Amino acid sequence: MSDTPSLRLPVPVSFEFFPPNTEAGSEKLKTVVRELGSAAPEFFSVTYGAGGSTRDRTLSTVRDIAALGFEAAPHLSCVGSTRVGIAEILGTYRAQNIRRLVALRGDLPSGTATAGEFRYANELIAFVRETQGTDLRIEVAAYPEYHPQQRYARRDLQHFANKMKAGADAAITQFFYNPDAYFHFLDEVRALGVDAPIVPGIMPFHNYARIAQFAMRDGIEIPRWVALKMEGYMDDAASIRAFGIEVVSRLCERLIAGGAPAIHFYTLNQSALTLEVCRRLASARA
Ligand code: FAD
Repeated sequence: MSDTPSLRLPVPVSFEFFPPNTEAGSEKLKTVVRELGSAAPEFFSVTYGAGGSTRDRTLSTVRDIAALGFEAAPHLSCVGSTRVGIAEILGTYRAQNIRRLVALRGDLPSGTATAGEFRYANELIAFVRETQGTDLRIEVAAYPEYHPQQRYARRDLQHFANKMKAGADAAITQFFYNPDAYFHFLDEVRALGVDAPIVPGIMPFHNYARIAQFAMRDGIEIPRWVALKMEGYMDDAASIRAFGIEVVSRLCERLIAGGAPAIHFYTLNQSALTLEVCRRLASARA
């Protein structure tokens, strides 16, 4: 565990990584874990490539984080997988004493065959509960601006509610920059009987052009005033950084003031921006 004094944050935080694909990347990530450890996160999570493409690296990253004294949760996607294959992975996780999982459907690259036995995340969750009982904590994905493959909002909400009822303990949202989308989503799912925590997933502006591409791909709104201002900065990295931190810190403050139970940061394996936002949240609290 980090020996730096912890930041006193108004709500628990968690941090997401993707598994590095080089030895140097893994070493660097350990430093990032120690740095982010100063925010005393509830857990770190590590993504999993659809179809099992990062299976071993997800596990080794989770083990590296656990060896540094922090709780780590692997993501597990089910698309393209068999029940036997998923059972084997769950067995490995259990043997490693992993007590928390982010359970997803995943997306196979287009053109890839899908000979899997799971169609949607709710089937994975039901399978985990059936085979592992209730002592594994399961988080799932939520989409305040709706899943990009779902044409009808109402259906997406109902599918989400079914997924929670299949045995999920909590949800982490896709990133968003419009807090009203989150608050409206909460009202909608509460009306469908979901009372579990829905944790906002927050993406700091690590690289504006890249984030804007993700947002376009996944149907996420970047408010016009943010987009225009970011684009207007052109190559002025210092202004982009300062404005991005300001926008994301205010977003987190609004979410926390509105009752968000925790904040999950998409770190893209970097500590600086996320830590700066955490520092601001801690100083706003003081
Ligand atoms: P589901 O909940 O199964 O929903 C997928 C779509 O199917 C939705 O449109 C839903 O409305 C629809 N649907 C659900 N049930 C039914 C049904 N019974 N009938 C008809 N339609 C239905 N991807 C990865 O590959 N690896 C990761 O590690 C990863 N981590 C993520 C972490 C978070 C916090 C988030 C928000 C996303 C993550 N993703 C990851 C992306 C995710 O896999 C994709 O968004 C994927 O398209 C949907 O996964 P899901 O678990 O939300 O699917």
